Amino acid sequence: LMGQMMSQPLLISSIIQHADRHFGSNEIVSRRVEGDLHRYTYRDCHRRAKQMANALKSLDVTIGDRVATLAWNGYRHLELYYAISGSGAVMHTINPRLHPEQIAYIVNHAEDQYLFFEINFLPLVEAFAAHCKTVRGFVMMCDRERLPAESKVPNLMCYEDLIEKHSPDYVWPVFDENSASSLCYTSGTTGNPKGALYSHRSTILHSYASTMPDALNVSARDTVLPVVPMFHVNAWGLPYSVPLTGAKLVFPGPALDGKSLYELFEAEKVTFSAGVPTVWLGLLNHVGQNELTFSTFRRTVIGGSACPPAMMHAFQDKYGVEVVHAWGMTEMSPLGTACTLQSHHMALPKEERNAILEKQGHVIYGVDMKIVDDAGNELPWDGKTYGNLLVKGPWIISSYFKDEGGDVLEDGWFPTGDVATISPDGYMQVTDRSKDVIKSGGEWIGSIDLENIAMAHPAVQQAACIGVFHPKWDERPLLVVVKRLGAEVTKEELVRFYDGKIAKWWTPDDVAFVDALPIGATGKVLKNKIREQFKGYQLP
Ligand code: ADP
Repeated sequence: LMGQMMSQPLLISSIIQHADRHFGSNEIVSRRVEGDLHRYTYRDCHRRAKQMANALKSLDVTIGDRVATLAWNGYRHLELYYAISGSGAVMHTINPRLHPEQIAYIVNHAEDQYLFFEINFLPLVEAFAAHCKTVRGFVMMCDRERLPAESKVPNLMCYEDLIEKHSPDYVWPVFDENSASSLCYTSGTTGNPKGALYSHRSTILHSYASTMPDALNVSARDTVLPVVPMFHVNAWGLPYSVPLTGAKLVFPGPALDGKSLYELFEAEKVTFSAGVPTVWLGLLNHVGQNELTFSTFRRTVIGGSACPPAMMHAFQDKYGVEVVHAWGMTEMSPLGTACTLQSHHMALPKEERNAILEKQGHVIYGVDMKIVDDAGNELPWDGKTYGNLLVKGPWIISSYFKDEGGDVLEDGWFPTGDVATISPDGYMQVTDRSKDVIKSGGEWIGSIDLENIAMAHPAVQQAACIGVFHPKWDERPLLVVVKRLGAEVTKEELVRFYDGKIAKWWTPDDVAFVDALPIGATGKVLKNKIREQFKGYQLP
């Protein structure tokens, strides 16, 4: 017996139609590359997305064609999210922090038909445009006045011209919800980047799930500033989940330094934000040095790499900003877990509640997870046994774009490459990425714990722990530290700081001080670069 409910494919265009119809006058504010603040509404955004969809049609972009963007978080980028996917083409966001050669590789691999880019990326586009084999035209995201009279970029068009020339009369096409909607390449720290090809269905389900109270918890009462870039796993889905709720959106553009972010948070009364730990370092430094407070900022989601407990406490205890630690990856759209408490935790002492909140969290309905040993046997959920973390669910890839890397699933589960524990009540904690685990005398040492302890020391700004060669133990931990401005601390003091906090044999053998840690294109510390830098390092 079949149910008798309407069958309606889950399509991305439905989100912007909903936002226009039901939250039409709610605002979208963007700091532009041009420097000024741009304001308009969901209704305006929908109108311009339809104009752009007509423009794409006039450029012969058809269903399934890939259209690329190199852009910051801003209103034009949002319009493209809806115009491209909504019209049936595939939105391919590219990380502008990648090397031009790597960008050309990705564009060719994706067979992008057009490439939209922000004005400050003109020199970057000039550096690789000639190598793009499939691109029929480039669109600069600006008004006519800013378009250069001459450029090395072939078939260069102007965004506002395209919008102006086309009518807002457009009917969003209806097609199979399993059709491809957008494409993101993984960072590719090892080998060439691989594409995660999302569908309309996976995107809508991820959006629904991610707004739930124990996930991002976004509502129509929020003002949301996505710091996580729209070129990195679709800003964790916020360009979809926020319009779905009708919340006000604030886009920071390229200015992600502490001062610029703080000013925008205050001026636009931001309540909620999301980003990787490295950007929050900048904001916390600015606020701390200038003795500022937040007047509306209430909650932030931190993920992408482990959030140091010291950062969590700074936000919570000094500024009253709740931190939700979250975990996921490009292959997971990206959300897998978020860390919030359950009613049976509420009576626990504060330290015990904090210990739970420091974990990567509980799965969001839709995602399932397990830990297994190297032979694939499932391991117990006791909060101590660690193993390879596998996941499955309707917004997790089943294979990479163009089947790069072959069959990636293990018995229908996707191997994340993370090593984790799971507590009896389902809280997952990442010990390490499997390639970053330090192997000492056949035992594993998790680098994240060692880094978190170091970052709780008042003189430490940032820390990374790597395994370096040891003749007896194979590898031993070396702690690499960036000191806070003006702070002093010795190697011996830092090593002593581990006393009583961790098993003795986990204590780093040595400490190296550096001016900065290498940061990758998505704002994460690059452990492989640090390992290269310290190759052959002699431990005392
Ligand atoms: P993304 O592009 O989504 O950051 P990547 O594939 O580059 O995806 O990185 C995903 C990896 O980032 C995860 O497999 C995990 O190792 C790491 N990661 C993400 N969130 C966290 C977190 N909260 N704590 C620890 N590691 C995390």
